[in-house]
Amino acid sequence: MFSIMRNELKDLAADLAAYLRGLDEDTYISVADRTPSSRAAAPGPQTKEPAVRSQASGDGPPAAGAEPYAAEMSALSAEIRKCRKCQLGNSRLNAVVGVGNPRAKIVFVGEGPGFQEDHKGEPFVGRSGALLDKILATVLGLKREDVYIANIVKCHPMINPETPEAHGNDRPPGIEEISACRPYLDRQLMLIKPRCIVPLGSVATRVLLGATRGISFMRGKWYDYPVELFGPGHPIKVLPTYHPAALLRNSELKRETWEDMKMLKSFLEKEL
Ligand code: SF4
Ligand code: URA
Repeated sequence: MFSIMRNELKDLAADLAAYLRGLDEDTYISVADRTPSSRAAAPGPQTKEPAVRSQASGDGPPAAGAEPYAAEMSALSAEIRKCRKCQLGNSRLNAVVGVGNPRAKIVFVGEGPGFQEDHKGEPFVGRSGALLDKILATVLGLKREDVYIANIVKCHPMINPETPEAHGNDRPPGIEEISACRPYLDRQLMLIKPRCIVPLGSVATRVLLGATRGISFMRGKWYDYPVELFGPGHPIKVLPTYHPAALLRNSELKRETWEDMKMLKSFLEKEL
């Protein structure tokens, strides 16, 4: 009995050590492509809608009726890409709709695109994104193509929109920007129909749960998404965790993030 427990603990410790080692590798991604922008003019890249459908992440092969679904997804993407409902629409290079499996069971939600995301039109492609990819791979055994990744606001909030090529120009989205953009996320969720949402960091957690407590209090616990998108009795579960950028600033938070992702993993194993 005790030796079984000891072995399990050993496995767990080895797991954690491997995870921490993996995350400690350099996750720096240079801005390879800094082509000058034609702001808010060119249509952004298409949302990637890859063919990969692993068991943990999708519903299997597209069923009959997949056609209208795909059409709705791309109509929504097109609408977002030409949106000007808030001021962020005027300074963005690309609206960042989302990436991943459009039938994913888990949706990760960040705060808003940064410089690199604005340039590429894809969420989490900078250092935070590299770390997110590693967390997905090491704890959940998933790739970004298996889950769906989106943001609260779809366009890059800048401190000074006059200097879009400057670094250190990111800021959190404002209240008006969040409320203008919020309906898009719910429409994405209605189409994707995930079983759970993982808000990354305090902004996403506050917006999605209406939470007044900070992320260190909210993380690592299950909540129900307050909007009953699929009717009563069919809640979407919500598990907040730290934003990967916070882990880059404070590596002490990696262990708690690992615990949160283990919770997510056992939810996936039990519920799906
Ligand atoms: Fe539209 Fe959202 Fe972009 Fe504002 S942030 S312009 S609401 S897509
Ligand atoms: N941070 C976010 O919150 N979202 C991104 O897409 C990238 C960085």
